Amino acid sequence: MVRTLEGLLPVSGAPLALHPFVVGYEPMRESMSIHGGDQSRHLLEPVTAVAVEYVDGWVLLDTGFNVAVVRDPERRREVFNYDSYTAVVPLGDPLLDAVAGAGLAWRDLAGCAISHIHLDHTGGIRHVPAGVPVILQRREHMWLESGAGIRDVVLPSDVIDAGERVRVIDGETVLASGLTALDTHGHTPGHQSFRVELASGRTVVLACDAADLLDNLDSRRRCSVVPVAGAEQAAQDAVERLADMRGPGVEVWPGHDPASWPWDATMRGERVRVV
Ligand SMILES: [Zn+2]
Repeated sequence: MVRTLEGLLPVSGAPLALHPFVVGYEPMRESMSIHGGDQSRHLLEPVTAVAVEYVDGWVLLDTGFNVAVVRDPERRREVFNYDSYTAVVPLGDPLLDAVAGAGLAWRDLAGCAISHIHLDHTGGIRHVPAGVPVILQRREHMWLESGAGIRDVVLPSDVIDAGERVRVIDGETVLASGLTALDTHGHTPGHQSFRVELASGRTVVLACDAADLLDNLDSRRRCSVVPVAGAEQAAQDAVERLADMRGPGVEVWPGHDPASWPWDATMRGERVRVV
């Protein structure tokens, strides 16, 4: 069943364009991204976000790291204390710089949706202006309320500080014209992906962390990070569903693949605007 967000986000018409943003990097073993992947192969994976541009506003999907935490030595030690994993961020504030570089203004932001609450996706929620909704799946929010924390690679304050801006949705939900949240739980209890149907007729599906890499889609292998026992099958179902969506006029972008074209082009300094 596909629901519709009550009131929908206040943007008109079909989405005009997508702006892919690379807002940080994280060193990852391939085996962290692909179940059965190589444990000794390390990738520098981009941390990604996307702006969906409409004629009268825009919607932000994912937000990267909390740069203020990354740059505070004490908090960084508390939060980024993982074997072989750390946050790598460009100078400045990469999300603010990317939004400005795309010619978008925060006052025109109609809504922000977060694929899931891992800390490489929630750190820029703090930039979402008052009154603008931050949309999460209810099951993801329940995971947060049940105590998901640093051991789960979650920085709870990123979401808790959003207070009343947080709005929860249940499963497949149309958020705005041409923008649908897809239930792809497994990687986390309420992980969601997004389908964007552009005015041009082109459709882009943002897999987010249900498929970190193109190889997840090509080889139909699920992500390996599955924090809840028994969610392996859900994660596998999610990656197969995303792989099945690929076809004429429909592309699926993996969430963290340095070699896939939108992120590769962005990392090479191109200002990409997909129409
Ligand atoms: Zn994740």
